[in-house]
Amino acid sequence: MQQDTHIKTENTIRPPIIVVMGHIDHGKTTILDWYRKANVVKSESGGITQHIGAYEVIHDEKTITFIDTPGHEAFSKIRSRGAHIADIAILVIAADEGIKPQTKEAIEIIKQSQIPFVVAFNKIDKPEANPERVKQELAREDILVESYGGKVPSVEVSARMGKNMDLLLETIVLLAELQELKAVVNKNAIGAVLETHRDPKRGISATLLIQDGTLKRHDIIVMDRNIETVRNLDNFMGVHTDHLGPSSPALIAGLSHMPTVGEPFLAFPSKPKAQEYIKQLSPLQVETEKNSSTVVAGENEKPIFNIILKSDVVGSKEAIEESLKKLESDAVGITVLRSEVGDINEDDVKLALATHLITIVGFKVRIDPSVQELARNHNIHIVSGDVIYHLLDEIKRHIEDMIPPIVQRTLIGKIKILKLFKKDGNKQVIGGRIDEGIVNKKALMNIIRGKEVLGNAVILQLQREKREVEEVAQGNECGILADSPVTIREGDMCEIYREEKVKRTL
Ligand code: GDP
Repeated sequence: MQQDTHIKTENTIRPPIIVVMGHIDHGKTTILDWYRKANVVKSESGGITQHIGAYEVIHDEKTITFIDTPGHEAFSKIRSRGAHIADIAILVIAADEGIKPQTKEAIEIIKQSQIPFVVAFNKIDKPEANPERVKQELAREDILVESYGGKVPSVEVSARMGKNMDLLLETIVLLAELQELKAVVNKNAIGAVLETHRDPKRGISATLLIQDGTLKRHDIIVMDRNIETVRNLDNFMGVHTDHLGPSSPALIAGLSHMPTVGEPFLAFPSKPKAQEYIKQLSPLQVETEKNSSTVVAGENEKPIFNIILKSDVVGSKEAIEESLKKLESDAVGITVLRSEVGDINEDDVKLALATHLITIVGFKVRIDPSVQELARNHNIHIVSGDVIYHLLDEIKRHIEDMIPPIVQRTLIGKIKILKLFKKDGNKQVIGGRIDEGIVNKKALMNIIRGKEVLGNAVILQLQREKREVEEVAQGNECGILADSPVTIREGDMCEIYREEKVKRTL
């Protein structure tokens, strides 16, 4: 069942990787179960015995890999780490219920990922099912299915009865063929961590999804900067194997560290090669993690933008390095992590993969299509050209797009708390008098008791004389529904802030 993984150096077609998304109870699990039961080739060991987060099915002699992770949390996590692993999504919508909040969330993720998708209108066996109404709802979300003159294929299915499930699979195969998904079989594997487990018998194990290359038993792999040896390699049915090719789920056990879901893994033929790779990463990673936490925490530290520069000759390399230094400003730092004469290669993409806020820049150099595809699959941006100032303009634009905005807070008013009327969890109804400035419904509050700042509160509702209002000015009393982990008390002084995100420019 596994593709032949013997010596093939050129690009070969690889199986598509499918993710199923949609609102809870709309039938994701039933769809995944149906395909698993109906199409997984029975192996000598009797089929899948445990949940590992992904499986393969064969349809008309073609392999399809399904990601089987609970909810789309894992998928978002994986995607947000840049490991863009699914090729095609199935957007499941129960035809009796239509678009729900998580459907919208799934649509957003699919749009951001820019992956092709098919809409599965599920539960059409139900008398209340009304796919036409759901099509109208989708049109309002800017999704036009084919029968509405759009480009998005859709299939009406009943996962419970198995109705049109083959048609759905065929639609996926067709979408995959249009994409011409390629991989190089005969090289070291690269991919992402899909799931992790810890159990008393096998220790720490992980499901990996191989995106390119072949993973072999005894390979050395690097995950989260830790070196691990592939002692046992199992396919998705738990059958021992010596190697697994592109798009295959792989189960490895006996790891020394719990890897992070969504992180990339890279395979190396030997430990020294893996160590060499980590050596060049380590100092950078510290910097990188600092950067990403500033993004998460929303603090206004100066972000460092990283660049891998490849040029045609030493002269242009030095000229571009000089110009890049000049792009540095109070808002953004620039670090050239690597600057070499030569074409953009796989090693450059691997270094980029382990780093945040990074771009590969090429001046008058070549990029092999397979390297380009690897970069595209992992959302690594490459800027290339042969006119220096065009190149610098594009880098500048790209940096401005990538760097997180500055959060600017402006004090707009002060309020004295007169009474806490009600408290339900973090939600509190308070009354107060505006001593200075204004209170605005979209503002933030700092709770101050004596001289101590106790924490923040979000204003959910603002009332004046029992009517909901947008703003209340100095000298007036108002009622506020606030959300804060801090219990607000009579006598507290609160400072009111407006928070704005300001784009950084170079
Ligand atoms: P998930 O939360 O999206 O994974 O949804 P599930 O697959 O767990 O399905 C939720 C419920 O809908 C279960 O009770 C399923 O049996 C039921 N269900 C799923 N598909 C169909 C279908 O095609 N028709 C009907 N009538 N029920 C379905």
